[in-house]
Amino acid sequence: MDMSLVRPNIARLTPYSCARNEYSGTKVNALLDANENPYNRPFNRYPDPLQRELKARIAEVKGVPAQNIFLGNGSDEAIDLCYRVFCQPGIDNVVAIEPTYGMYKVCADINGVDYRPVLLDDHFQISAGRLLERCDAHTKLIWICSPNNPTGNNINREEIVKVLDNFHGMVVVDEAYSDFSSKVPLRQEAAGRGNLIVLNTMSKAWGCAAIRLGMAFAEEPVIELFNKVKYPYNINLLTQQKALEMLADPFEMDKWVRTILLERGRLMQAFADLPQCERVFPTDANFFLARMKDAQASYDYLIGKGVIVRNRTRVSLCHNCLRITVGSKGENATLLAALRQQR
Ligand SMILES: *Cc1c(COP(=O)(O)O)cnc(C)c1O
Repeated sequence: MDMSLVRPNIARLTPYSCARNEYSGTKVNALLDANENPYNRPFNRYPDPLQRELKARIAEVKGVPAQNIFLGNGSDEAIDLCYRVFCQPGIDNVVAIEPTYGMYKVCADINGVDYRPVLLDDHFQISAGRLLERCDAHTKLIWICSPNNPTGNNINREEIVKVLDNFHGMVVVDEAYSDFSSKVPLRQEAAGRGNLIVLNTMSKAWGCAAIRLGMAFAEEPVIELFNKVKYPYNINLLTQQKALEMLADPFEMDKWVRTILLERGRLMQAFADLPQCERVFPTDANFFLARMKDAQASYDYLIGKGVIVRNRTRVSLCHNCLRITVGSKGENATLLAALRQQR
C-alpha cells in the first residue's frame, strides 16, 4: 500500500492508548489501571482490544497470518473503516460494481464520498477495463463483492486480478459468501498483495449474525491503520468467547453448508418449475435470484402467508426479481407450498 492513499489526518493520528496496552510482560498482582470494578468477573474487565486469542484461531481456520487480520463489529465496521481511513470527504471517490451490497453506498454517503456504480453485464459480470475507466486521480477504493449480493454469482477471477494489477488504490473484495462457493477464495493473497483488502464474516456460513463479527484480511500496514481508527474495544467479550466456541468446531459449519447447498439445488429446481417464475439465475451463495412474472405480486402474496423474501425489483438489472435465502427444509417447503397455491 502506498501511504499517500491514506487520509492525511489519519496518517498523522495518535490513536487512543488503552490502559492495558501500556505495560507488558510483568506478572500482574493487581489491575488498578482502568477504573474497572473488581467484582463481577469476567465481565468487569475490558476485553482484549486486539483480540489476540481469537485472531490466532481465525488464522488457523482461514489460513491467513494473525497480523494480517482485522476484526470488526460485523463486516460493516470494516466497510466503514475503508472510507474513514482512505477517503477525504468531498474530494475522493470510490468505484463499485452495480448492483451489489447496499452498505458500500450507504457508507459512502455517510462519509461524504462520491460513489460511482458501474453496471454489470447480462451475465452479472464485469471487465477490469470498465471499472478502471471510471477511476481518476481521486479514486481510492474499488468495491467488488464475490460471490455478489444480490446476484449470487462469483465475479470472474481474471478480471479481479487485472483490477488488482492495474489500480493504484485499494481493491476491496467482499467474500461474505465464499464458504458456499466451490471457487478458491482470494483471502490468502491479501497478505502479499499490497492493495487488496478481503472481507469475511461470521454472519452467514458460520450462523452467527447475532454476535456481529466481521473480518478484514490485508497487508500489515492496512491492518495497523484500521486498528488505529477503530473504537478501542470494538469486539466485546461475549462475541470473542462465542466466536472461539464456534471456531473450535469448523465441521459443524461445513455440515450446515452442505445441507444448505443440497436444499439450494432442490429449491432452485422447484422454482424453475413454478408458473410464476420466468428464470432462476445461477448462484455460488446461500441465496439465489429468481425473475418472476410479477415480483411485487408474489412478494405481497408471500407476506400475506408470513413468508418473507427480498424484493429486488427496483434494483439495477433485477427488475421483477426476488432474492430467496435458502432456509431450513421446513422453511423451504413452506415457501414452495405457498407459491404453488398462488393464483
Ligand atoms: C451479509 C453480508 C455481509 C455481512 O455483514 P456483517 O456486518 O458481517 O453481518 C457482508 N457483505 C455482504 C455482501 C453481505 O451480503
